[in-house]
Amino acid sequence: MSFSSGHRYWLPHLSEEENRRLFGRWASPYNHGHNYVLEMTVSGAISPQTGMVINIKELDALLRRRIVDRFDQKSLNDEVDEFAELPPTAENISLVIWRQMLDLPQGTRLESIQLFENERLFVQVSRNNGGYDMTLTRCYEFSASHRLHCPQLSDAENAALFGKCNNPTGHGHNYELEVSVRVSPDPVTGMGVDIGVVDEIVNREVVDRYDHHNLNDDIEEFHGLNPTTEVLTRTIWRRLNGKLPVPLQKVVVKETARNYFEYSGEDE
Ligand SMILES: [Zn+2]
Ligand SMILES: [Zn+2]
Repeated sequence: MSFSSGHRYWLPHLSEEENRRLFGRWASPYNHGHNYVLEMTVSGAISPQTGMVINIKELDALLRRRIVDRFDQKSLNDEVDEFAELPPTAENISLVIWRQMLDLPQGTRLESIQLFENERLFVQVSRNNGGYDMTLTRCYEFSASHRLHCPQLSDAENAALFGKCNNPTGHGHNYELEVSVRVSPDPVTGMGVDIGVVDEIVNREVVDRYDHHNLNDDIEEFHGLNPTTEVLTRTIWRRLNGKLPVPLQKVVVKETARNYFEYSGEDE
């Protein structure tokens, strides 16, 4: 489902100076807007009668009544009660939606919601031990070339194993990178993390280093490694883990439209 809403980061009971100090570059007494996209996952048993977990129409109607009709084409700060005092960050909007949708028809359970503020930023709230976890994901791109090749194997074995990917002069990809961090919204600002700081670190550690480079030859951390996307994903995790202002949850690298890899530090 989607809805278009306006919002601003500006608390009415604070002075201009305090608002600018709290929200930094995001502070403004004027609205801007987003086309939010909301995904929701529920679980339950398949009904022997209908063959469904829940009737999608019923779920759509609930989402419409509780969220979309109340948020769409509205200024969240001014027209939606929950945000009269609560800054409508993607984190807080997700939490409000999570709480509104917890009560579902008998036998179905809310598992997670994903709220995209734009194509490059989304917040996920997912069930965990009776409570919930929240992650914020930021999306990046870089273009890099590589060659898949194991020096321990013969040229014929490499060619058989990697096919076209073993081409001696390499080939390239437009990689898409998703970095997910664990957040909880600040009680005052509603922000889980300063996204500007995350961008700065990911760009410095990964995107600016790899973009328009040859991974095998130009990038120190791949010397002696076969730069498959599995290795790339784990390498990015290691470069970012511990350097961000909040805990790293997951790194996803999409090599092509047909395959992607994710890593959460399993063998660290
Ligand atoms: Zn915004
Ligand atoms: Zn490749």
